[in-house]
Amino acid sequence: MASADDLMKKMVSLCKRLGFVFQSGEIYGGLQSAWDYGPLGVELKKNIESSWWDFMVRRRADVVGVDTAIITHPDVWRASGHVDNFHDPLVDCRKCRARFRADQVEGTKCPECGGELTEPRDFGLMFRTMMGAVEDEAAEVYLRPETCQSIFVNFRNIVTSSRQTLPFGIAQIGKAFRNEITARNFVFRSREFEQMEMEYFCRPADADRFFEYWKEERMSWYLSLGLKPASLRFRDHAKEELAHYARACTDIEYAFPFATGGFGELEGIANRADYDLSAHMRVSGQDLEFIDQVANEKVVPWVVETSGGIGRTILAVLLDAYYEDIVDGRERVTLRLSPALAPVKAAVLPLSRNLEAGAAEVAGMLRPILPVSFDVTGSIGKRYRRMDEIGTPFCVTYDFESANDRSVTIRERDTLEQVRVGIDNLADLLCDCLRKGWRPAVEKAGLAAAGRASE
Ligand code: ATP
Repeated sequence: MASADDLMKKMVSLCKRLGFVFQSGEIYGGLQSAWDYGPLGVELKKNIESSWWDFMVRRRADVVGVDTAIITHPDVWRASGHVDNFHDPLVDCRKCRARFRADQVEGTKCPECGGELTEPRDFGLMFRTMMGAVEDEAAEVYLRPETCQSIFVNFRNIVTSSRQTLPFGIAQIGKAFRNEITARNFVFRSREFEQMEMEYFCRPADADRFFEYWKEERMSWYLSLGLKPASLRFRDHAKEELAHYARACTDIEYAFPFATGGFGELEGIANRADYDLSAHMRVSGQDLEFIDQVANEKVVPWVVETSGGIGRTILAVLLDAYYEDIVDGRERVTLRLSPALAPVKAAVLPLSRNLEAGAAEVAGMLRPILPVSFDVTGSIGKRYRRMDEIGTPFCVTYDFESANDRSVTIRERDTLEQVRVGIDNLADLLCDCLRKGWRPAVEKAGLAAAGRASE
């Protein structure tokens, strides 16, 4: 297996070579800390987003979604405290000019060269831009540094339009921008990134209970992506570490190979009390209290927030799935992605170029049902390896018998087991494999999974 340092290098190069993630603006030397998702990356990202949306919104009667503007009214960030407080302390090395967040270096010496560090200076993290043709003060706006504030700002609209009563949640997936001092570690820390956030509004007395509930729910979602339990942990924030508005906060951390202490933040879960709604009430002068018709009382709800990053989840999923072994004397790299997340679910591979037409028909039959790939170039062994490397769970081989017996062979990525199945039953079996897993689906179909695919 790759060592921890090696693993990141291998991952960054695999992401580029296979089309998961590219450096943004590469042909112009690259824009530091901005990343573009390629053909496979965008599929993986959409699969993660839709898994989150299903889990957090669609399957719950008490959570609704929104999709709000990135460019935000400046008063939103004045009320939230970002204009005054969203700064990080920055230090520079006087010798090698490297730049660090003061709270991430221990001591007064540069961690890279041992040089003297400057005194910390405040560095504003929000991106500002001008709206409209005339560049005056009035037109200055911000790109949002987090997605949740527009949830709070829309609180009344949502209560009125969706008729939710306490407790209920509002969820959003979207871009956020932070002018990070040190953007590094690939998509772990970039200046443009995406968040998946949910604000759960409840009565103050219920906030502790819902905080515990959402901690467990969020962990179970990361496990449902196929991440290994040993790669994940909770980390409770100590009192002195809590943000000024938070009553309690826990991070869900993943064992990122570069992380100091072995684990880095994937998501924060926080009890934010009534900080945000009260702040927006104060600054906007609008009433954002919830009117409980049944209890006949007014309340400023408390909020439990779950706030995760898509880039960090993608990176965790890829690192966790990375697997090397030796098959038939050659090194094989496999992304053991959960089938639900795999960008391509099945590849149709004719054993020889002469069989291309028949195999293309099978691929055409599957395409409306599943994301499939069709590959005719190179030896069958090479084509299997290409599919293993991008995490495709099933390869369908169309061979010299297929035209006669109207059957093909399915090869499973991790066990290398194979079964022969009639072309008419292929789509159903593959769908079953995706829903239930390989062995249960094969058993249910009354087929025997045999041996290992030979290459
Ligand atoms: P960190 O301490 O690592 O800077 P944070 O505590 O400031 O993170 P939050 O403000 O809690 O992060 O944001 C919620 C989530 O958004 C994080 O858990 C992370 O997954 C994601 N996130 C935050 N900043 C970035 C970034 N610069 N690049 C990529 N993802 C980010």
